[in-house]
Amino acid sequence: MAKSLKWDVIIVGAGPAGLALARNLLLQQPMWRVLIIEQQLAPPNAPRIGESLPGAARILLEKLDLWQAFNRGNHQLRGAAVATWDSAMPIWQDGLRDPQGPGWHIDRRAFERMLLDGVRELGADFAWGQPLHSAVSSESLWQVKCFDQNNERHSYCAPILVDATGRGAHVARKLGMTKSKDDTLLCAHAFLPSPATDDDAIMRIAADEQGWWYTVKTPLNLRVLAYHLDAKSPMRKALQTGGQLYAMAMAQPLLATVFKKYYAYPNSQEAKATLFYRPAGTSLMDINALKASVPGFLAVGDALMTFDPISSQGLFHALATAESAVSVLAAPDVQACQNARNQYCAEMQAVSQRYLSHLQATYQGPKRFAHNTFWRNRQASLPCERAAVLASY
Ligand SMILES: Cc1cc2nc3c(=O)[nH]c(=O)nc-3n(C[C@H](O)[C@H](O)[C@H](O)COP(=O)(O)OP(=O)(O)OC[C@H]3O[C@@H](n4cnc5c(N)ncnc54)[C@H](O)[C@@H]3O)c2cc1C
Repeated sequence: MAKSLKWDVIIVGAGPAGLALARNLLLQQPMWRVLIIEQQLAPPNAPRIGESLPGAARILLEKLDLWQAFNRGNHQLRGAAVATWDSAMPIWQDGLRDPQGPGWHIDRRAFERMLLDGVRELGADFAWGQPLHSAVSSESLWQVKCFDQNNERHSYCAPILVDATGRGAHVARKLGMTKSKDDTLLCAHAFLPSPATDDDAIMRIAADEQGWWYTVKTPLNLRVLAYHLDAKSPMRKALQTGGQLYAMAMAQPLLATVFKKYYAYPNSQEAKATLFYRPAGTSLMDINALKASVPGFLAVGDALMTFDPISSQGLFHALATAESAVSVLAAPDVQACQNARNQYCAEMQAVSQRYLSHLQATYQGPKRFAHNTFWRNRQASLPCERAAVLASY
């Protein structure tokens, strides 16, 4: 719990971006008082979707001095991926040719616990169970208010405030900034208990008329099964349980191969798995608004840019922005801070642009479904226009 009311930095959000930023800051500025405000009462234990980490993350984990800790974790090297995307013919890809290495399928909760322990050992303070209520800047000091579950008010202040609240960008929105809502993509997913016999380490991705699938086994002996569809898709009504998702997946030959071999629907656990829905579409902060915002404010991770899961880049981006943000927040004087901030914004603009053009190229792939609403909307569409706009900055 918090020890005093004034800090050097307040970070709102104890996800990967907020935690990585806190650790980076405290490694550079050990004497700083860093407070992390989190709406949840404690770090959650339930499995969480988002398990692919690219090999390029190694350098960021090394900079966080967490590479050894990561290696001790129960993470698995990524195997091959196979996709029926551009056509119904499966295309294989292995990670061996990636100069950064194949990357990992991580135990996501253990990964976040590693970051949390890494922040705790450097002495940051935490305010758990306190969703942000308001943030006001006055005379270069942020006044932040939160209410806990007993409706008790807590006030904190610091010259620097960081939004690490994920997709919702709750701090930035309170300051009047907006995020684009290009895409109403939803992810319906379930964690299926894996039998010990399931030793298939392959990531399987399949496009269909209404969206796209993936399945992969995680290090926790759970198999993620995920379907990405439009929020307005009529299929949503038919998809209410993990069993229904599983039954639908069986119509996809690429996925059915693994399920037929190792699983035993409908007389099994898979039929009882809970189905979760999460918004999953691209959502990007207006970088010009960030640039023009009060100097003591910054955003990192999904709060700044939320990527489509097809990119598998969200965690990397969380760690990368947490690294880049330190040069802004720990700048020695006002001018250096302003320069670093401009550079941060320019870097993020370039990242958005590259991301949008890759995303657009990816969604152009399944031409065989171009007449279906899901693909028509994405093949037409907004990301391309946004890419053009971004290119003109
Ligand atoms: C379906 C799906 C699949 C994905 N798959 C992958 C993948 O394979 N690989 C990958 O790299 N990425 C993946 N991602 C993305 C990845 O999960 C995110 O990019 C990553 O979690 C972003 O970290 P973050 O810290 O920015 O945000 P979050 O992880 O969202 O953390 C934000 C934190 O802020 C807290 N918070 C929110 N609002 C408030 C508030 N008002 N006050 C206080 N606290 C608040 C939240 O409780 C949370 O703890 C996937 C995402 C989805 C939706």
